[in-house]
Amino acid sequence: MFVLISIDLEGCAGVVHVDQTRRGGADYERARAWMSREANAAALGAFDGGATRVVVNDSHADMRNLLFEELDPRVEVISGALKPLSMVQGLDAGQPDAAFFVGYHGGAGLRASVLDHTYYGAVVGEIRLHPAQSAADDPGLWVDEAAINALVMGEAGVPVALVTGDEAVTAHASERFPGVTTVAVKASITRYSARSIHPDEACRRIRAAASEALRGLARVKPYTLPAPIGVTVSLLATAYADAAELVPGVVRLDARRVRYVAPSAREVLRAVLAITKIAGTVVV
Ligand SMILES: [Zn+2]
Repeated sequence: MFVLISIDLEGCAGVVHVDQTRRGGADYERARAWMSREANAAALGAFDGGATRVVVNDSHADMRNLLFEELDPRVEVISGALKPLSMVQGLDAGQPDAAFFVGYHGGAGLRASVLDHTYYGAVVGEIRLHPAQSAADDPGLWVDEAAINALVMGEAGVPVALVTGDEAVTAHASERFPGVTTVAVKASITRYSARSIHPDEACRRIRAAASEALRGLARVKPYTLPAPIGVTVSLLATAYADAAELVPGVVRLDARRVRYVAPSAREVLRAVLAITKIAGTVVV
């Protein structure tokens, strides 16, 4: 059994501030160790639950955060950027039987979730999905990184069996992903505050939940939406939308919103990456 683990940092126990999430930040080295241990706990739980192959995809920022010495030698690690599948890289490294999202956080615009953002925090106000033909004012479905990534996995037939992070991200995952097991390691109070369990206790719970999730894998189903899928990105400044509009196929809806109709979930992800990366080149 092949398990693919996507590990982020903002949703790990004890993490509440950018000083912990940015290379060079005062507390970054400690936070990346907590992140590495949570990834390892999920991997150990996967092996406990019957996995024979575990690939861990470093999914945070420059994607070079994981400390190999904290990881079980049986795991393979995907690190570095740019990766065409970003947080779901590894999906093409065989056919995973299940995916785990560990250390995940609330999406941009969600109150209250520590360090809420979706892919590119500096430029994205929020992201919504809707049927291809919907009107500009159709509110659609608000999505976070977990939902977008789960749709890419789901389209390839891969179910998300475990989601860990703050209570906001695990609550959305429980509503959306059929049969998913979740571990909430902290309750967010505001964007920069939370009540967290101890990192060691988080690892204990994640390992137990990971093995349990695999034992119950028959009940877990892929998360999908009918294609084509419209994706609307609300940017934080008009200048970002001016740049995003240059991506071929992207339509400007109004001052700060752009839309793209994608033939598949994978293309939704590519559109989000392309729109946000080009928007991020603009100085405002
Ligand atoms: Zn993230």
